Amino acid sequence: MAVTDETVSRVLNAVPQGLLIGGKWIGTEHTIDVENPATGQTIAQVADATPEQGIEALDAAVAAADDWAATDPRARGEVLRKAFELLTERAEDIALLMTLEMGKPLAEARGEVTYGAEFFRWFSEEAVRIAGRYSVAPSGGTRLLTMKQPVGPVYAITPWNFPLAMGTRKLGPAIAAGCTAIIKPAAQTPLTTLALAAVLIEAGLPDGVVNVITTSHSGAVSEPIIRDPRLRKLTFTGSTPVGRRLIEQSAQNVLKTSMELGGNAPFLVFADADLDKAVEGAMLAKMRNIGEACTAANRLLVHSSVAQEFAGKLAERMGAMTIGPGIEDGVQVGPLVDAAAVDKVTELVTDAVDRGATVLTGGTAIDGPGHFYPPTVLTGVGTDARVFTEEIFGPVAPIITFDTDDEGIAKANDTEYGLVAYAFTENLTRALTVAERLQTGMVGINQGIVSNPAAPFGGVKSSGLGREGGAEGIEEYLETKYVGIKL
Ligand code: NAP
Repeated sequence: MAVTDETVSRVLNAVPQGLLIGGKWIGTEHTIDVENPATGQTIAQVADATPEQGIEALDAAVAAADDWAATDPRARGEVLRKAFELLTERAEDIALLMTLEMGKPLAEARGEVTYGAEFFRWFSEEAVRIAGRYSVAPSGGTRLLTMKQPVGPVYAITPWNFPLAMGTRKLGPAIAAGCTAIIKPAAQTPLTTLALAAVLIEAGLPDGVVNVITTSHSGAVSEPIIRDPRLRKLTFTGSTPVGRRLIEQSAQNVLKTSMELGGNAPFLVFADADLDKAVEGAMLAKMRNIGEACTAANRLLVHSSVAQEFAGKLAERMGAMTIGPGIEDGVQVGPLVDAAAVDKVTELVTDAVDRGATVLTGGTAIDGPGHFYPPTVLTGVGTDARVFTEEIFGPVAPIITFDTDDEGIAKANDTEYGLVAYAFTENLTRALTVAERLQTGMVGINQGIVSNPAAPFGGVKSSGLGREGGAEGIEEYLETKYVGIKL
């Protein structure tokens, strides 16, 4: 059913526009315009925090820290469970909000609500399973007791591409572990985080446990918070260059850090793969979120014996996708987030073609309004092309061939990144051998999507530090204390 203007207004008007500090919504002198990337029009204005207001948010998180750490685990879990239920009840409105500010098609935004809310349900269950150990020292006598305690106030910085899930993936474990937090969404997509905070308050979260700052000066506002000795944890999802800078800043107070950074995922198709499954997997790994995902297949490495057939099938599927504003019925490919994103994708495709690649479908940006780029398949891409080393963050599938398993794996690993890899093969031994040899934090075998709140998400090499989700997720928000007891 088509989304009406009334629904759009109702959903936008329901979003708080201030900073959330100590349970109060606070207005600011200046505001940030939020743009709909499908139209280029301003749809809302939100508060623009100063560095002083950033520190006020930290003051509030620090003031609430002891009480929240002392709150019963069950009570912490119940808040998350209630927030999960509210997000699920309001899935349609939250999905629409995400589509309006970020551009993804509504069907995908609904999928993100399900995925994002699930982090709250998962961590509501983890809150009551935080446990330590008790053992006898090998030499006898002394008893070794370990206990888990909340690490302390957390600063969470999230990107624009998954406005809900990147927030719940950080706030869920923080709240469950007994930490208070400040969250700073990207200036391009602040509305979903503000709506999420309102849901948490409605679910009974006490004042100051989660504080939200929106700002157009992310560096100037973040650095004083990170360098303040009261902060104990920094969790960031975003690009590798910004992540490196934040790690440097975190070094001063030796913060516990989680860094979910950039990716350059290889998608390997072996000669014995089921090609229909591989094409299906590539559609997900490439086209989810219009290719604007850190997990997006960036390099499709295909055995030369099946490359032509695979490329033809993929081009047919990608070329048939419906492009348009994400709120329209049947749209499968929304706009990219801004004009700069379209320029970057255009540059990368031009570079690959200049170096000898062939365009099977797509290949040219679509005129405005809005920031649209069509699904594109490139064949004959060489390892000298920029797409081999740079994150595309758009709907472009470059196909690169290989002849032996060793060559395919070497090409897959020939990158500074190591977030995720995908491999398609019907041979179990090959699948496991390849999974062991790939230098990534995650591997999808015969599947084009790995994200799952019950699994540890994260990368190696320049893709990051730490894991989010799974049993590992809550550990990032806990410290281990050892108590030696002489009997
Ligand atoms: P980005 O520029 O690094 O921005 C990410 C966040 O950091 C935003 O909130 C941004 O705020 C903030 N930021 C930028 N500069 C900052 C600074 N100097 N100090 C403090 N905060 C700062 O990344 P992006 O281009 O928006 O997002 C795409 C990137 O995120 C891609 O590389 C993608 O792979 C990565 N990503 C990784 C994962 C993962 O789990 N590994 C998941 C999703 C995305 P402003 O935008 O308001 O400046």
